[in-house]
Amino acid sequence: MRTLIISDIHANLTALKAVLEAAEPFDRVWCLGDVVGYGPDPNECIEVLRDLTNLACIKGNHDAAILREIDIITFNFEARASLVWLDGVLKPENLKWLRSNPERLVFDDVTIVHGSPRNPVWEYVMDLGTARENMSDFDTRICIVGHTHIPGVYQVEGETQETTKNRRIANGKAFKISGTKAIINPGSVGQPRDHNPRASYLIYDDDGDEWHYHRVAYDFEAVQERIRAAGLPERHANRLKDGW
Ligand code: ZN
Repeated sequence: MRTLIISDIHANLTALKAVLEAAEPFDRVWCLGDVVGYGPDPNECIEVLRDLTNLACIKGNHDAAILREIDIITFNFEARASLVWLDGVLKPENLKWLRSNPERLVFDDVTIVHGSPRNPVWEYVMDLGTARENMSDFDTRICIVGHTHIPGVYQVEGETQETTKNRRIANGKAFKISGTKAIINPGSVGQPRDHNPRASYLIYDDDGDEWHYHRVAYDFEAVQERIRAAGLPERHANRLKDGW
């Protein structure tokens, strides 16, 4: 079975559509949250996801903030501005859908969360130390996280069972998880932050137990125009060009 894994769409419909088209064929989709926030197309993105036949979606910090499950005062000024804008835009049925998404899901030997297994909505797994501390917070072999918008793999491996990091994984090339445990980040669909502006996604093929990272270009200028037309902060438009 081929699973498409996406995260941090951030209301960027153009990037989401580019990913769904490029990723074909797939049998199911795991979405790691932050469907909304920053971008201009929150309802459209939710509606595209809701139309997918085999989707599991969890809640991110931006999703939780618009639901007032966490305080928006904890967000930086520009992130907060888009959350305030979102309040007036999001349709009730789409809010309800966001509310129905859990913080954590488990599929066989894979756990999915937005932030970290220790703190599913808030914590960033950005460095080796944080990854190491989180390895005991999930019972499956693999935990997939989003939130940082940066693709990467941390593994517990070797005789010493050390946690190691592998940042360089070629686009489209298959890789296997050799370690006893791993934390994998698919990167971000709608707002990549690894200085690569192309939308990032991950494919898991459980037949061969293989993983594949992919990047796909999309028309970010069209998204920038919609961000500006909506009166959202300029920074959200600017960063799409260079992926930061
Ligand atoms: Zn995010």
